[in-house]
Amino acid sequence: MSVNYAAGLSPYSDKGKCGLPEIFDPPEELERKVRELANLIRCSSNVVFHTGAGISTAAGIPDFRGPNGVWTMEEKGLSPKFDTTFENAKPSKTHMALLELQRAGILKFLVSQNVDGLHVRSGFPRDKLAELHGNMFVEECVKCGKQYVRDTVVGSMGLKSTGRLCNVTKARGLRACRGKLIDTILDWEDSLPDRDLSLADEACRKADLSITLGTSLQIKPSGNLPLITKKRGGKLVIVNLQATKHDRQADLRIHGYVDEVMMKLMKHLGLEIPEWRGPVVVERAELVKPEEPLKSDPDALCPAKAESPSHHNGIMEGVSGTCPGLGLVPKSRCDSVKQECPSPVAAKRRKAESLLT
Ligand SMILES: [Zn+2]
Repeated sequence: MSVNYAAGLSPYSDKGKCGLPEIFDPPEELERKVRELANLIRCSSNVVFHTGAGISTAAGIPDFRGPNGVWTMEEKGLSPKFDTTFENAKPSKTHMALLELQRAGILKFLVSQNVDGLHVRSGFPRDKLAELHGNMFVEECVKCGKQYVRDTVVGSMGLKSTGRLCNVTKARGLRACRGKLIDTILDWEDSLPDRDLSLADEACRKADLSITLGTSLQIKPSGNLPLITKKRGGKLVIVNLQATKHDRQADLRIHGYVDEVMMKLMKHLGLEIPEWRGPVVVERAELVKPEEPLKSDPDALCPAKAESPSHHNGIMEGVSGTCPGLGLVPKSRCDSVKQECPSPVAAKRRKAESLLT
């Protein structure tokens, strides 16, 4: 299917404030900020990432408000430029870094506004991902709710029928469900998918650090989710080339290309960005590399986490409350990720389905 605006992107992005100037932190400042981000991650026990269109521009898919964004171009009476089709788009360095952060047990949940399907096609486990505005490759049964991840875009938008029927087998294998399948791409008036929204909301409540990548945070409620973490005593980091709606709430703002920021970050943490080897769907997370301590930064200090939500809401996963002590303690990763890692025995089953079936 060829990609054009009408068939390509969710209209679920408001207009306004298009073409805001892009800001670039000078190299030294960028370096310092990424180091600070690495430190924040080491000192956190529950990190949630939020992604927007800005992380897919490197994959050839336009964003909304950047200089060549969908709305910016539309305001000028021009068509947005796609350098690829959705099927041919390759996950960016950022997509792959997020996958590795999940595998390493650092990233606990990922909330995305993107409909390009690149998180899923990168192999990111679907049970750790909320796709708030839908996914071009996913269709869903209206009767039983079963979702199908396809290897091509499903061909409709706005929760319309795709023309296919559900083939889930009912009891005793006698009959298939035969419910109508619809796309998952939201239209303006559609409310967000319940399951994804409540998972995202819960993750943001549990998190002590929310990091947003490539989103102007203008859309409600998606753009407000990172604020939940902040309101509950956690921290907020915003990585975006343009100013965002919630800049004032951020503990740290980084203005740089997300791929560059993520590559630097992974180096600081001593983690490799994996190569993408083609589309694969992973339904459930498995901790591939548990017990891997993060590379520490000997000069950094970890503030005491007495105010962290993990100490008073009682709903953190696993062992909570690390970085003990008063004032500043020497930070050597604070063992938080290590303690949070389930044992290999408890690791969930990984279910990989070939996209070609
Ligand atoms: Zn069904």
